Amino acid sequence: EVKTDTETFIFRSKFPDIEIPNDQPLHTYCFEKLSEIADRPCLIDGSDSDRMYTFAETHFLCRKTAAGLKRLGVKRKDSIMVLLQNCPEFVFTFMAASMIGAVTTGANPHCTSNEIKKQLAASGARIIVTESKYVEKLPSEGVTIVVIDTGDIPAGCRRFSSEFIDAGGDFDVESEILINSDDPVALPFSSGTTGLPKGVVLTHKNLITSIAQQVDGENPNIHVKPNDVVICVLPLFHIFSLNSVLLCSIRSGCTVLLMKKFEITLFLELIQKHHVSIALVVPPLVLALMKNPKVENYDLSSIRMVHCGAAPLGKDLEITLRERLPQAIFGQGYGMTEAGPVLTMCPTFAKHPFPSKSGSCGTIVRNAEIKIIDPETTVSLRRNHPGEICIRGEEIMKGYLNDPEATARTIDADGWLHTGDIGYVDDDDDVFIVNRLKELIKVKGFQVPPAELESLLIGNPAISDAAVVAQKDEVAGEVPVAYVVRSERNGQDLTEDDVKGFISKQVVFYKRLHKVYFIASIPKSSSGKILRRKLQSKLTNNLDLG
Ligand code: AMP
Repeated sequence: EVKTDTETFIFRSKFPDIEIPNDQPLHTYCFEKLSEIADRPCLIDGSDSDRMYTFAETHFLCRKTAAGLKRLGVKRKDSIMVLLQNCPEFVFTFMAASMIGAVTTGANPHCTSNEIKKQLAASGARIIVTESKYVEKLPSEGVTIVVIDTGDIPAGCRRFSSEFIDAGGDFDVESEILINSDDPVALPFSSGTTGLPKGVVLTHKNLITSIAQQVDGENPNIHVKPNDVVICVLPLFHIFSLNSVLLCSIRSGCTVLLMKKFEITLFLELIQKHHVSIALVVPPLVLALMKNPKVENYDLSSIRMVHCGAAPLGKDLEITLRERLPQAIFGQGYGMTEAGPVLTMCPTFAKHPFPSKSGSCGTIVRNAEIKIIDPETTVSLRRNHPGEICIRGEEIMKGYLNDPEATARTIDADGWLHTGDIGYVDDDDDVFIVNRLKELIKVKGFQVPPAELESLLIGNPAISDAAVVAQKDEVAGEVPVAYVVRSERNGQDLTEDDVKGFISKQVVFYKRLHKVYFIASIPKSSSGKILRRKLQSKLTNNLDLG
């Protein structure tokens, strides 16, 4: 650690800093080696008879889409929404938006109409690229809807192929639109350390920095080679998949095998058939793989690297994974949407001198700084002392969209992003996450902000107050449970099923309540903040909830 004048202990990567060419547009950086790798496979659509697109074809279709978006009136700094499972059109649209200086907000197609409309309104997007089956969730007016289907499409929608691909015109990436590296390019949504989901503004510079930290230079964190095949099963609307799977692969010149959703048989078949060499996964996926006997029937020997992130991976699972795939290098990574998202990762290049330790999330990405602070006093802590992890570097978000207050609460005046995670840095610069300070609940790696469920609950006239906390779960990691105060006037007959049903109708499946406890009052501090830890410990210790 380095102690600076201001008495701060600052930790850095095990590896030296690198030059990061982050003063250019993201698509230019990602496709930098296009002329050398034009004929190599870039995308394979594993959900559509393995249709393959070379780098040249992919770049061409991104340009066609850019020209089409421009014809539809999309301008620099405009937002567009992509409401799709993983598919080539997701990639074309994201890259096209980058080319014309626009910003893409990816939304989860499983979300309810209300959830999608909230994200749409917050992002300001007027154009949505989606599939016919999701159109009923979208507003009927005020937006242009482009659907990727080839069959019949709903009235009033435009067709992706005729609008973008088959239409005349190309886009001159080099000269048509001037893009500033501080322009936003991706707008994922995250609740951060507190409150409701907010738009996270990630710029060209942020994403290039983050990708370079992972795959560029002599000692890359993820050593991806052009003949690698990377399976993209994690949803691209989450920044982990968009950045670490898709963009890192395009930058490295390897092949991305797209899967619409996780389905174990297809997953195993695709790995075997396409000799997948790199898999980026989340703990529930590892669990499904390790517990399923079908795994024995497939040849998975092509896998040379497995990266797991988005939530903590239990020790038992890690051991089983290492046993089942002895040929593979295994590493955990630690990310947070607001950090671009990767803060730490295990080095996975061949014969690296630092084998990753069990339970560690690896070392800090290069060029970034981390400090660990005492959550009460904010004093920075030495090695091996757990505290709140803070990160500083050009990869962290520009801020929350239209929310300077939330931004100021998260990124302090010295540029440190406060993660709300508790962890420490050990003697070898390996990072361990030990706890979560923030209220966020993570279900299967997805965000469930308690504030969102609480505001829905309080909107029910039979409920006078409510609090939502996390309960540990073997499959999902965590699940949300609610403490509910029945309203004296309308709530005396309210049952657990009523409350669960009320929420289920309004939220995406992973936000559903697993348990509802009725309680006389919600414990709060004198300033009115819910004392979540008190509820959490009641839950853990199975105490009488009164
Ligand atoms: P998201 O912004 O959806 O990527 O969620 C970020 C949060 O997920 C982090 O702030 C952590 O609380 C949690 N998280 C991500 N990766 C890990 C990991 N490897 N171990 C423990 N928690 C993690």
